[in-house]
Amino acid sequence: MKGWPHLVCVALVCLLPTVAAMAQNATVAKPAATPPALRIAITFDDLPWASLDPNTPLPAHGSVPPRIAAESARLLQAIKQAKTPAIGFVNSARLLVHGQQQPDRVAMLHAWLDAGLELGNHTATHVDLNAVGVPADEKDILACDAVLRPLLAKRGLKPHWFRHPYLRTGRTLEAKAAMKTFLNDHGYRIAPVTITDSDWIWAAAYAKALDRGDTATQTKLRAQYVPYLLRMVNYFQHRSIKLLGYPLPQVMLLHANALNADTYPDFVAALRQRGYRFVSLEQAMQDPAYQRPDTFTSALGTSWIHRWAMAEGRSWKFYSGEPTSPKWVIDLAGVPANSE
Ligand SMILES: [Zn+2]
Repeated sequence: MKGWPHLVCVALVCLLPTVAAMAQNATVAKPAATPPALRIAITFDDLPWASLDPNTPLPAHGSVPPRIAAESARLLQAIKQAKTPAIGFVNSARLLVHGQQQPDRVAMLHAWLDAGLELGNHTATHVDLNAVGVPADEKDILACDAVLRPLLAKRGLKPHWFRHPYLRTGRTLEAKAAMKTFLNDHGYRIAPVTITDSDWIWAAAYAKALDRGDTATQTKLRAQYVPYLLRMVNYFQHRSIKLLGYPLPQVMLLHANALNADTYPDFVAALRQRGYRFVSLEQAMQDPAYQRPDTFTSALGTSWIHRWAMAEGRSWKFYSGEPTSPKWVIDLAGVPANSE
């Protein structure tokens, strides 16, 4: 991709340091005050592992291919070493093979809890609310709850957080209200996402490079992926300052995959260098912005910052400049070019 190295330079060297400066400008009432802290909560979707589902080819023993078991262990080790809070959102159907729950897959969830991390509900089968409607979605949430609740109860815990698959939260205000009431009745709060990204596209490309033993491409992907994530963080932090006047404690969506396992230490180190502090989802959501109503009823999902901006009637200019993944990554991943 022509121009790519320049883009990396612009995003990392020139734009990122301006977040703190913008924050300072946005709070001009207190000229001597230090800029507000930059905070971020990391969330991982599609546990126990994004590429693990009832159709994953079975290994000779157990139900978790050794490569996935090793990747999952690497991710947990990376999170533990980085000392960041994190929550993983579970699709309980990923625990099944021929309808039977697999102990080695359930053990992957216990490993998250053993690492001191949280687990939330992401439906059993990763169902699309906007496609199936409220009753079917509720059924799938309860199916996941039936697995997650007893698993957490063994440790004196309860599930509190629900993440909508594809961030699709309802096509009508009525559907959204029904979901909110249902979730509330079952002790759940909706876990929003303010920093969306296409890590799953990069991860699909990385999986292909792993399959082929192509270490040069693996290295190239890792090297470009972290700057891409930083550009996404930077983009949404600038948007929150524009909309709210301060840097929002962000909630970032990543997936449980090999690429994140192999880049998490670098990503965390780069964010810390930029002044970010890692907080839990609960801590991030104490910011009053998260009390804003979500009236977004499009068929697709998007960042909650964009939802709040749409509710205020912001023009297209507000949203412009969202970073995209390079074409070579999309091509290698084998996903449609318009996936982003
Ligand atoms: Zn998901």
